[in-house]
Amino acid sequence: MDQLLFGISGLPIPDGGRRFNYASAIGYLKSFGLDAMELLFVRTVNVTEQNKNLILKAKLENKIYLSAHGSHYINLNADEPIKQDESLARIIKAAEGLAQVEGKSLIFHPGYYLSDSPADTLETIKKNLARLPAREIDYRLETTGKRSQFGTVPELVALCQAIPSCKLCIDFAHIHARGNGSLRNYADFGDILQYVADKLGKAVLNDLHIHMGGICYNQSGERHHLPLRESDFNYMACLKALKDFGIKGCVIAEGPRLQYDALILKNTYLGL
Ligand SMILES: [Zn+2]
Repeated sequence: MDQLLFGISGLPIPDGGRRFNYASAIGYLKSFGLDAMELLFVRTVNVTEQNKNLILKAKLENKIYLSAHGSHYINLNADEPIKQDESLARIIKAAEGLAQVEGKSLIFHPGYYLSDSPADTLETIKKNLARLPAREIDYRLETTGKRSQFGTVPELVALCQAIPSCKLCIDFAHIHARGNGSLRNYADFGDILQYVADKLGKAVLNDLHIHMGGICYNQSGERHHLPLRESDFNYMACLKALKDFGIKGCVIAEGPRLQYDALILKNTYLGL
């Protein structure tokens, strides 16, 4: 990609009484000054025969980048093999839905450790990811916010090294929460980007998918999202690191203020 895009997770907050569906949200986000939207397939793949053409038309007219967040019911390390198969089927169905509207990145959390060691969990998840069909879209493994959930940066980087169809989704708020407030200053963000570049090659910095936002956490990690400016998430340092590393790709703002926080991020970044 040739620049860093900014967008939101899901539909925008209603504006002046105006409510949105995916198709109407795309034009609104463009006029609001944003570039991207992450469709939420967390409960169901809600791109359907009824809305897919309208979404695609709006996307092409407004040149909005589309990604999607996959089901919350994915565990590629489930104890029962049938549940692993069902998780793969959910990922494939979401990829098909996203492909229908020419989306690019499918984001999901690969699984949970349950009673397994991190190393065994990684091996099981790796075997399952290798079963995904190669597609136009990228499977994006998201760094997770809870310590019970598989998905540290090194774990996901190891999977991306092993499986060519997989890429990263770096959720900085999740990393911060999982580390009980571990991302404090510029170097903390820079170290992550440097690690990723060292392990996966510098070219990966030209196409990163990133989540960020305010977040509330405790010793076990993530609790819930917060407005950007009501949290301790150091978005200034994060954006500065993204700029200095020449990161390109897409930043998705998460939290209760959606488009308003996304615009703060974009304008802050452009002003650096
Ligand atoms: Zn997620």
